[in-house]
Parts: sequence; C-alpha cells; structure tokens
Amino acid sequence: MRDTTYIHPFDLANDFGRFKGGYLFKDDNEENAFLLNSENGCSIILSSVLCEQVLTQNVDEDLAFKMIQRGMIENEACMKCQVTERVQPTFFIFDLTQACNFRCIYCFRHLEDKVHTISDDNLDAITNYIIDYCLKYKITDFCVQPWGGEPLIAFDKIKRMDDMFKQAGLYPLISIETNASLITEELAEECADRNIRLGISIDGFEAVQNMHRPLMSGKPSFDKMMRGVRILEKNEKLKNFGVVSVLTSRSFPYLKEIIEFLATEVKAPCFKLNLVKDNPVMKDAGLCLTSEQVEAAEKLLLAKLVELNRRGFPITELNVHEKLMNLLVRSKTNICTSRGCMGGTKMIAFDQDGLIYPCDVTDYKEESIGSVHDKQDLISLVTESKKSNRDFFNRKHIEECDTCPFWFYCKGGCTTAIKYKKGCVEGVDNQECIANKTLYPALIDLILSDPDAIYPLTRGRVQLKKSRQ
Ligand code: SF4
Ligand code: SF4
Repeated sequence: MRDTTYIHPFDLANDFGRFKGGYLFKDDNEENAFLLNSENGCSIILSSVLCEQVLTQNVDEDLAFKMIQRGMIENEACMKCQVTERVQPTFFIFDLTQACNFRCIYCFRHLEDKVHTISDDNLDAITNYIIDYCLKYKITDFCVQPWGGEPLIAFDKIKRMDDMFKQAGLYPLISIETNASLITEELAEECADRNIRLGISIDGFEAVQNMHRPLMSGKPSFDKMMRGVRILEKNEKLKNFGVVSVLTSRSFPYLKEIIEFLATEVKAPCFKLNLVKDNPVMKDAGLCLTSEQVEAAEKLLLAKLVELNRRGFPITELNVHEKLMNLLVRSKTNICTSRGCMGGTKMIAFDQDGLIYPCDVTDYKEESIGSVHDKQDLISLVTESKKSNRDFFNRKHIEECDTCPFWFYCKGGCTTAIKYKKGCVEGVDNQECIANKTLYPALIDLILSDPDAIYPLTRGRVQLKKSRQ
C-alpha cells in the first residue's frame, strides 16, 4: 500500500488562492499520485512533475487553475465548494408488513410474535403526508420503499399507494426488495406497467442461499428464488433487477464463489454486498464478521470484481461503485455512503402507526420525530429534532476521524448500526470504519496502478487516462 502524507494548507504565489490541504497517496515508483481533501471530498490525480509543484509549494498557473476547478484551491473569485447538505428528504421507507414466508437466519423482525401489516388508514395517512410534502416543496424526484417482512405479501397495499401518488400527479420510484418467491408472470407485468422496481435478495449459490434463507417451513428456498429470477429475466423492463446479498461469518468462506455465482449464473450487472449488522434480537450472535474478516472481505470483493471484468463479465458492486464515484467525481450516488449518514436530512422512515423517524430506528420509539396524523411540516420536524440533542443526531466520532482522509464521505458511518449495536449513538460504526479504511485505499491503489479497471467498476461512468498531466 502507498505512503500517505498530509500536505498542510498554504497560500499560493501571485494571489492564485489558498491550497486547502490534503492527503497525498504516492508511491515513488509510480508516475501518478492521488491528492484528497478530507473536509470537502475533492480530489485530483497528479503526475509526479505536478505533484512536486504541490510538495514544493511552487504551483504554476495551469495547475492552480485545475486545482481551483477540482475544489483543491480556493480564492475569492471562485465558487465555494458545498460541504453541508440541505434538509430535504427524498427517500421514504415505511414498515409495510412483518409477514414473511422465509426465516432468514439473520432476520431481526420479531416473527415469533404476532405479525402485523399496515392498516389502510395508516397507509393512506403516510401516503397523503408524503404527497402534501412533495407538492408543497415541488419535489418530483423521490423514492419510496415499502419494507418487510416480504413486501410482495402485501402487494395490494403497494398498488393502493402507487394509485394515490398517480392521482396526485406524482410518479415516485417505488422500489421493493423481495425474496422473489412470490413473483409470477402477472405480478412482473404489473410491476413493469407501474414502473415499480424490484431488487432480489440472493445470498449466494444453492447451498449458501438455503443455509441463510430457508423457507418458513425450514425447506430450501433456492428453487423458488431462482424461478422468480428467471421470470424477471424474460421481462424487458425488469431484467436489469438489482441484487442484495448479505454476508455473514458462515458465508464468508465462500465469498469468492458467491460473487462468481452472481456474475455467471444470475448474470447480475450490479449487486450490493451487505455485511450482516449486529442487533440485539439476532438469533445467533456468532453471525457477525470479525474485524479481520471485514477487511479480508473488502479486499477479496475488489479483487474478484476486477478478475470477473477481465474475464468478460461486466459486474460491479454498489459500495465499490459509490466509493469510486466519491473519490473520482465527488458524486453523491447513495444516501448512506456518499456523505455519511443522511438520516432525517434525505431519508425518512415511517412505522405502521404513522410515526416518523430519521431512518429505520422504529424499535426505538423515543427516536420518533413526529406523527403523520399531526400533519406538521416535515422539514421543520427534522430541523427542530436536530437542535434538540436527540440521540440519533449525535456526532459520530473517534479520535482517529480527525486524521482520516475519508472523513468527508464517512462521518462515522451508519447511525442505525450504532444504535442497534450499542443501544445509543456514541463512537462510530466500527464495521463501516474498517470497511472504509480498507476499501478506499485499495480503490486509490487501483486508480493509480490499473486505471483501465475503473471503467467497468463505475458502470461506464468514469474512464481514466493512463497518465494525467
Ligand atoms: S469512522 Fe473510521 S473511516 Fe470513518 S472517518 Fe472515522 S476513522 Fe475514518
Ligand atoms: S442510519 Fe444508516 S441506513 Fe439510515 S440514513 Fe443513516 S447511514 Fe443510511
């Protein structure tokens, strides 16, 4: 791995402006280096000649101009780089049903208790609340995700909500994460007609899927899941469905084979690998990965993706994609991993009673910031909650964050993960911390040593030249 050096801020000659400081990733044997500002997430790739200009504080006009464009230098004439996020939620999740026909080993819904599905009255109240908010603030581009349980068990309710939005002249992206077992040709047609997006939970090849995600009866689920996948593959509008895979300590030894299966059998162009998160009701506490396993998983993931791309399977993974987009173009492609936690700021959750939360912390009623039945303005609710020392909005921080090159993107990780693990929000999300400190440097390594590998990993969005001047 490369040396990382912090270059302190300095004023440039000729009133060009002020270099804002940054972490330099550099290997003396390589032509290029990567410079990253941890406070605004801006970066630039520098040749060794240009790198020397920065190190000797002798930046010429051409480089100064490039660095101003890239947010690395500021002067009075240039636009300031935006570093704070406006409170304006555009991603809404709600608890549709706890009912499920699977019994995944890591599930934290209380399935042994009586399961509930949202009532029509509360569903309508939540939908009307989102409609009023979107019309008031002229928001047309937003996403709604009903979560379960298995959301397709309550598909009629999803259609009811979709109809209400359409009657109000709103067309949100409704996305459903499903176990795929209830997908039929008719249901797929209806989703395609309504523009509802489906993502499938697939934890791996047959043995892993059946071990992680058995049916409620205890029987294997692989065939039922694959039947749903094959139906979607035949549907022109739905065939590029997303895949979500959960990795536990039990499936960790098979990670390479799991990714191989997703690329070659499922032919997924993109999947999201979620490392199982600790929570108090997970049946088997031994499912979480150790720190060493998290680190190994991130390295293995990246190496396997590069290998598959070279073999002609165009596959990427969403965390890898998003972190590359962060590093290279400072693009916000994900609520949770682009600028630290956006709970409340961009993401809102509703429980089945219509209580409002800054994310899926519905097991902690004290974190509710209001109720849809009170019809209070959403932005005011979030803004007031942020001021009121509520646990959820605590700063997430450890001493190491002060000198971490990736602070701007991470900001302590996922609040919900910390809350479920510790019962309160303090410190940082350790798992995300390890993942970030492993994956970001590995991605910088790849950017500098193998720039051609970046194009497929960013789904064709970024193409790097071999050498940048
Ligand atoms: S939690 Fe870890 S990765 Fe995130 S900013 Fe802090 S030190 Fe860096
Ligand atoms: S709590 Fe976690 S899942 Fe929710 S918005 Fe924050 S980072 Fe994302």
